[in-house]
Amino acid sequence: MELKAPRGTFDILPKAAKKRWFIEEIASRIFEEYGYKRIITPIFEHTELFTRAIGEATDIVQKEMYTFYDKTKRSLTLRPEATAPVVRAYIEHNLKQQPQPVKLYYIGPMFRYERPQAGRYREFWQLGVEVMGGLNPAIDAEVILLMEQYLRKLNLKNLEIIVNSMGCSTCRPLFTSKLKDYLLQNTEKLCSDCQKRANINPLRIFDCKKEGCKTQLELAPKISEYWCNTCREHFDKVQNFLRKVGIEFIVDTSLVRGFDYYTRTTFEIRSRLLGAQNALGGGGRYDQLVEEYGGPPTPAVGFAIGIERLLLASEKEGISLPEYSPLHVYIAIVDQNIGIEAFKLLYDFHRAGIGADMNYSEKNLKGQLKLANKMSVAYTVIIGPDELEAKKCQLKYMKSGEQQEVRISEVVSKVKSLLEL
Ligand code: AMP
Repeated sequence: MELKAPRGTFDILPKAAKKRWFIEEIASRIFEEYGYKRIITPIFEHTELFTRAIGEATDIVQKEMYTFYDKTKRSLTLRPEATAPVVRAYIEHNLKQQPQPVKLYYIGPMFRYERPQAGRYREFWQLGVEVMGGLNPAIDAEVILLMEQYLRKLNLKNLEIIVNSMGCSTCRPLFTSKLKDYLLQNTEKLCSDCQKRANINPLRIFDCKKEGCKTQLELAPKISEYWCNTCREHFDKVQNFLRKVGIEFIVDTSLVRGFDYYTRTTFEIRSRLLGAQNALGGGGRYDQLVEEYGGPPTPAVGFAIGIERLLLASEKEGISLPEYSPLHVYIAIVDQNIGIEAFKLLYDFHRAGIGADMNYSEKNLKGQLKLANKMSVAYTVIIGPDELEAKKCQLKYMKSGEQQEVRISEVVSKVKSLLEL
C-alpha cells in the first residue's frame, strides 16, 4: 500500500491550518456581522438530492460525484457543494416558519472527482452563504457586496466581479430553444461532449473549456436578448444597488455557472493574478429549487468561495496571513527536579486563562529557550534551583530579550496584566 494521501487530496499541517483558521475566522465574523448564522450539514447525502438540484447534464453529476452504496444499498454521495444540502435542511426543519429571509453560512469540505491541478482538487474547502426566502434585488446585491467585502478584509486587491442574469422560467426556455437551434446547425464544430449537451441541455456548453466550442458560443444568441421585463428590471435594480455602494463590476452574458438551479442573477469574483482557475468564488439566485424539492415557494440566493483559491491568491498578492496563536507563555526549567513546581505553575497559568506550555522531554535549558523562540511566545518563565529556593523566577520578555526577577506566586498576575487580559 502506498502511504500517501489520495490523488487530489492533501493534509493540512499545523502551519497551514493556522492560516486557514484566520480565513475562516474572518469569514465567520463578517457573515455574523451581516446577520448570517452558521449551519452544518452532513458530509454525505442521498445521491438524488444532488442529481435533481445540480442537473443530470452537468459535469458535476455526469463525471464528478463520489457516489457509493452503503450496506443497505442506499446510494449516497459525498457533497460536491452545499446549496442542495442547505435547501434540504431548510425544508426538513421547516425554516420557512422563521422570519424570512433566513440567512445562513457554512464552512466545510466538498468533494468532486476532477482532474487535479493548481487550484483544483478532489477534496477542497468552501465557505459560503445562502439567503432563503427573499426576492428583493437588494439581497442579490448584498451577497455580492458581502463576498467582495470579505475578500477585501483578507487584503485581496486584484479582483474582478462579473455579473449576469440567467433569466427565469418565463424567458429562459425561449432562449434555450434558440440556442439549441443554433448549436444543432453548427454541431460539427462542437466537441463530442458538447454535441450531446446541445441536445440534452444546451446551456451546459458554456461550461466547456475547448476553444472551438467557446468560439461557437461567441456567435450564439445571447440571454440578454431574451430577458423578460421582470428579469430585466430585477437585473437593473441589482446593478443600481451595486453602483450605489460604489462596487465595480462587469456584465458578461456568457457567465453561466455550472449548476442547473440558477435563475436570474449569477456572479463570480475572479483574481486577475490566478491562471486558468481564476474564480475565487461565485453564486447566484435559485428561485425554484426549494419548490422543486416539494417545499413552499422560496426565492433564494447564495455564493461559495474556495478556500484553497483564497490561499493561492493571497500568496500571489504577497499577503502574509497572520498566524493566530493564543500561546503566550513558555516555562523553562534548569533541571528536571523543578518539573513538579513548573507543572503546578503551568496549571496556574491555564486556570487564569493564559495559554502556556512547557516541554517534558527537552532537558537542556538552551534547547528549551530555542523551543520558546520557535513557538513565538511573548514571555518565558525560567526557574532554576536558586530561584526556586527563593520562591522566585526569571520572567523573560522575548521581544526585547529583557529579563526580570518576579516572585513565583505573582508571575501569573504579572503576565496577565502585561497581556492586558
Ligand atoms: P462552484 O461551487 O463550482 O460554484 O465553485 C465555487 C468556488 O469553489 C470556485 O470559485 C472555487 O474557488 C472553488 N472550487 C470549485 N471546485 C473546486 C475544486 N475542484 N478545487 C478547488 N476549489 C474549487
